[in-house]
Amino acid sequence: MATLKINNLFVSIEGKEILKGFNLEMKSGEVHAIMGPNGTGKSTLAYTIMGHPSYTVTSGSIELDGTNIMDMEADERSRAGLFLAFQYPVSIPGVTVANYLRTAVNAHRKAVDPQYKGISIPEFRKMMIERMDYLKMDHAFAGRYLNDGFSGGEKKRAEILQMAILKPRFAILDETDSGLDIDALRIVSEGVNALKGPDLGVLVITHYQRILNYITPDHVHVMMEGRIVESGDAHLALHLEEHGYDWVREKLEAAR
Ligand code: ADP
Ligand code: MG
Repeated sequence: MATLKINNLFVSIEGKEILKGFNLEMKSGEVHAIMGPNGTGKSTLAYTIMGHPSYTVTSGSIELDGTNIMDMEADERSRAGLFLAFQYPVSIPGVTVANYLRTAVNAHRKAVDPQYKGISIPEFRKMMIERMDYLKMDHAFAGRYLNDGFSGGEKKRAEILQMAILKPRFAILDETDSGLDIDALRIVSEGVNALKGPDLGVLVITHYQRILNYITPDHVHVMMEGRIVESGDAHLALHLEEHGYDWVREKLEAAR
């Protein structure tokens, strides 16, 4: 079992403090949801966990299995088992989904074994097709240029396929539901549910409760003003759907 622990994290971007004492502990096998209004720092949290260089950690730490990862570059964090499905995946014309994924697999394996010669194309294809079948994806998908002309749903499925192939210990889904129609949302959620298990922890970041109808969280946290201000179980998400965030704001104001 793996643990991801975020301790009293303060993060600034371009001199503006966004995360202000963020704390979270999660274990593999668990699904945590972070909900919160726009602009509250949810994406900042996701990028900071992955080690995006634009975000300056002014204090606090992030530990993976008790090891502080703050000095690791983004690629090292990926190899250590962290994965982020982006809110806005970038397109890479000229690079197929298959090539992109094979490069990613090789990078991960070479980090473990510098002598590693790279996965053979037949071996990789077999692995990719097996995962695509598992996620009920059309094989033709593999030959398309990454995210180039992909619909919102296809972009998110490409992210889920990448997750299925890299097998992270913790996956962060940053508003994976944004821009998806209900069918695409269901397909992506089914993919996540298929991969969910004792070896994978999932952090679902969302503005709306909708995706949590498909991916049931064990823990729900409300994020506001750069930190978690309320935690509960799946019922909390339903409560927020019905009552919005105002009551959380009022509670915060009252505590000041
Ligand atoms: P959320 O994902 O919860 O909507 P974000 O983490 O994207 O929130 O943004 C939090 C705050 O940080 C916002 O006020 C946003 O304007 C600011 N911010 C995010 N990225 C940048 C950036 N690259 N430069 C300046 N400000 C940013
Ligand atoms: Mg965001």
